[in-house]
Amino acid sequence: MPGASTGLLTIGAFARASRLSPKALRLYDELGLLTPARVDPVSGYRLYAPEQLDRARLVAWLRRLGMPLARIQYVSTLDADAAAREVRAFWAQVEADTAARRNLASFLIGHLSWKDPAMNPNPTASPLGIRYAALSDTGRVRGSNQDTAYAGSRLLAVADGYGGAGAPASAAAVDALKHLETDGIPAGDLLNVLEDAIGQAEQAVRRVTGPGSSAEEAGTTLTAMLWTGSHLALVHIGDSRVHLLRDGELFQITHDHTVVQTMIDEGRLTPEEAASHPQRSLLIRALGQGPDSGPGMGPGMRAGTGPDIGLHDARPGDRYLLCSDGLSTVVPADDIRRVLSGTDEPEQAVRELIALANSAGGPDNVSCVIGDVVELQG
Ligand code: MG
Repeated sequence: MPGASTGLLTIGAFARASRLSPKALRLYDELGLLTPARVDPVSGYRLYAPEQLDRARLVAWLRRLGMPLARIQYVSTLDADAAAREVRAFWAQVEADTAARRNLASFLIGHLSWKDPAMNPNPTASPLGIRYAALSDTGRVRGSNQDTAYAGSRLLAVADGYGGAGAPASAAAVDALKHLETDGIPAGDLLNVLEDAIGQAEQAVRRVTGPGSSAEEAGTTLTAMLWTGSHLALVHIGDSRVHLLRDGELFQITHDHTVVQTMIDEGRLTPEEAASHPQRSLLIRALGQGPDSGPGMGPGMRAGTGPDIGLHDARPGDRYLLCSDGLSTVVPADDIRRVLSGTDEPEQAVRELIALANSAGGPDNVSCVIGDVVELQG
């Protein structure tokens, strides 16, 4: 063989050693991903140097990981530390995308089960409704309130605006959903109704923050729940949160779309470290940003841009709390649980929660919305 005398490996030998097929090696050569050390000018045979095996093995493993070729090309030019960071970022993105698909799958499962009368847990029980309250407060430090909180018999919403047009952005996002309060929702169309509503909210936010406006670095979070008569549908983007108090236990049912939450998910930060992280409020998803430009978003940090959507079954006695980060940043979950389980009236509970945030310094605007699932009196 032509390469034997020069210490080079034939494509067959190199393929066996790297566990890449000759066909893959030819493709990677054409893409510039793994260029042979020499191509025989007469036969056209590709010959590889033994030193190229490390790179070839890395390419093979990255392919097995499902990384696209263009990204492998970039990663394979990096030193080991930088390559490790890229693999970590890639995997965080895969997991975030999978989480979004899992949300959609669970929504569809819930939705399809709900439409099947056999799956309805208690069709003859008393009809359920929502008892609600909303309150928003400037806090003790900020000069104005950029949060918007809303509660009605069908819609619960919190939006936390930021930047120069933060207040109109959060108001526009919530206003865009208010028609859900009165519109009928055709059975089977809930997912599309929610998607349309988010689209309308996004457009409304862009009108007040977009290129034509005075404030381009502005946007808002949006976390909303829609009562369907038997379920609560959730749409969520940003770092406002929803907690559910059920049987005395408090569950956070939303996932923050923040840089620090991504770092927690990647195992690079503990929740305790995140609580005092200087960039803990940096969002990777919100309404009003450009499609590719989260503020301060590092390469590879992008993890889908749409909202999380979910469908939650409702039991009498369930209490939902929607809140902006002005509450969750300064009031520990245990104190939130104590107020929610010890205060019957929603109006009083939202007042107490906001008082807790203000007594902890009130560093940010704070908004709380409570929705109680109650049996309606026949
Ligand atoms: Mg805030």
